[in-house]
Amino acid sequence: MKILVLNCGSSSLKYQLIEMDGEKVLAKGLVERIGIEGSRIKHTKTGMDAVTREVPFPNHSAAIKYVLDILVDPELGVLKNLDELYATGHRIVHGGEKFTKSVLVTPEVVKGIEEVIPLAPLHNPANLQGLKAVMDVLPGKPNVVVFDTAFHQTMPPKAFIYGTPYDCYEKDRVRRYGFHGTSHGYVAHRAAEILGKDIKDLKIITCHLGNGSSITAVDGGKSVDTSMGYGTAEGVLMGTRSGNIDPSVMIYLMERYGDAQKVSDIVHKQAGLLGVSGISSDLRDVEEAAANGNERAKIAQDILITGVKKYIGSFAAEMGGVDVVVFTAGIGENGIGFRKEVCEQMEFMGIKIDPEKNNCRGKEVIFSTPDSKVTVMVVPTDEEMAIARDTKRCAEEAK
Ligand code: AMP
Repeated sequence: MKILVLNCGSSSLKYQLIEMDGEKVLAKGLVERIGIEGSRIKHTKTGMDAVTREVPFPNHSAAIKYVLDILVDPELGVLKNLDELYATGHRIVHGGEKFTKSVLVTPEVVKGIEEVIPLAPLHNPANLQGLKAVMDVLPGKPNVVVFDTAFHQTMPPKAFIYGTPYDCYEKDRVRRYGFHGTSHGYVAHRAAEILGKDIKDLKIITCHLGNGSSITAVDGGKSVDTSMGYGTAEGVLMGTRSGNIDPSVMIYLMERYGDAQKVSDIVHKQAGLLGVSGISSDLRDVEEAAANGNERAKIAQDILITGVKKYIGSFAAEMGGVDVVVFTAGIGENGIGFRKEVCEQMEFMGIKIDPEKNNCRGKEVIFSTPDSKVTVMVVPTDEEMAIARDTKRCAEEAK
């Protein structure tokens, strides 16, 4: 059974074609600059070198048609024809409170995603464009939508209600939603599987740390709290996003600039590792500069380490303990020095790591010592595989 996974951004489209028997990626690719001059596609058939072609893509529909063509191409393709495709899974950033799990697409589902556009004005319209293009090009084939917010819909009110007037929630749906849910869910379940334990018996803290970062408390397999909130700037310091700041700062900035877009750019695009260090949004560059004595880079690095420790500590307190801490995404999977710093500064919680085992990148590893009170591990995230599994399940259930 072959499943296509799509992740559409405003001007980009990432795809993977996955053979579910054995869960193998057959081909993957990226289309960039859709609707902009200089659009191109980079396609990789597993086992072959990547091929890059400059092709004018005026819209997502044109890009998706090209991707489907390349998937049946005699040389670069992996399908004899499109009948071989079982279903398509789509990543949708925001499902609001409406969608608590992945669902098969119906006209009502499309309407539901449209209704929550105000909560994700940049992402949901792009995700929808991809979905509608596939519905158009492949009529009759099932489509499944998988939401970044859905995993966090199990949070109790004490975790998702802000201390704002209750009206803000009831009238304007201002609340904590949380993001990266597909990743948090995937790595939490995988961690339990690796440890040979039932996830229902575990208190897990999942640290998805990449260009965007969030940390989640997973109690008995359910998200009970998470660091990202109404939008994607809350929580720990990120590549270019501020993480937690006093709301008074936003009010001050609005009064100073009188321009919501400018203030949004400050906290989403000019802040974080980049804003504090003045060097880069990439932790590798910041670490290198800090090691060479750059003071602001060192402050940026320390804010991130401290922020992650604060969340691990507070989520452990919230859950009444923690059995497992999982690191994932770019920084979590590859930041050897970063993981060492965070964990060694948490020995008071009974966290003990083996530096040798920690000395690895991008693979599943338990790097705590056998006598550590908390198991600490790296589990590389695989959002595409998680989307493909949900797509298979939902499409089969609908038969
Ligand atoms: P992601 O958004 O998950 O692709 O993560 C991208 C981020 O991972 C980059 O911006 C870097 O900050 C970080 N990263 C990747 N490799 C390393 C590394 N070896 N050490 C520290 N950070 C890394």
